[in-house]
Parts: sequence; C-alpha cells; structure tokens
Amino acid sequence: MPEKDCLFCKILAGEIPADIIHESATTIAFRDINPQAPTHVLIIPRKHIATINDIVPEDQAVIGSLYLAACDIVTAEGIADDGYRTVMNCNEAAGQTVFHMHMHLLGGRTLAWPPG
Ligand code: AMP
Ligand code: ZN
Repeated sequence: MPEKDCLFCKILAGEIPADIIHESATTIAFRDINPQAPTHVLIIPRKHIATINDIVPEDQAVIGSLYLAACDIVTAEGIADDGYRTVMNCNEAAGQTVFHMHMHLLGGRTLAWPPG
C-alpha cells in the first residue's frame, strides 16, 4: 500500500517527477537528485517498505529483484567491469532520510572505503 506522505511512493505514483531509468514488475530506479558519483541511482521496491528492519519473508523475491535491477543498470551505465557500490542506509545512525527503503547504486569514480 502506498504511504500518503512518502516521497518515493509519490514518485511511483507519478505525482513527483523523477528521472526514471529502469522499471521492473517489482522495482523502479531513478537518478538521485543530489548525485554523489557520476552514476548515482536509487533502486526502490514498488512496495512501500520503510526500512531494512521492516522486510518480511514474503518480500524475499522483491529484495532480490533490487539486485537484478542493479545488474541491468550497471551494464547500461557501462560500469559493471570497473566496479560500483550498492548501499542501503537504515535509520538515523546510517543517515537514512527517506523512509521507503532504497538501494543507492554509485559508480563512475573510485569509491573510498570505509565510507564515512
Ligand atoms: P538516504 O539518505 O539513504 O535516505 O537517501 C535518500 C536519497 O534520496 C538522497 O541521496 C537524496 O539525494 C535522494 N532524494 C531525495 N529527494 C529526491 C528526489 N525527489 N528525487 C531523487 N532523489 C531524491
Ligand atoms: Zn513509500
């Protein structure tokens, strides 16, 4: 069920514009509005799941589909071989600001480790 005040549910509903670059039955992906790398894409489940903590067993295929979307996108972006990073922030200490879980896909430059 979409959440009334959820930014990413509004993007899913077409109520807020986004640069959508990939869609599947269970996911959409769009470019981050404040990119931290040449490629910075957010891959989200169509289902509103607030955080990683809220995943339930029936979501297993949906969560897997986030990674399948990532595989398609890194091929299209030409960064599969050089390398890239996927990140999901969970709750305040990790800096989560949008509470519809999303996979950050970052690439196109060398990424330092560990992250800050
Ligand atoms: P997080 O801090 O992990 O919750 O990530 C939220 C991300 O959403 C940030 O990288 C923001 O730049 C990004 N963001 C916020 N609003 C939008 C928007 N309207 N379209 C695309 N990305 C957005
Ligand atoms: Zn949502």
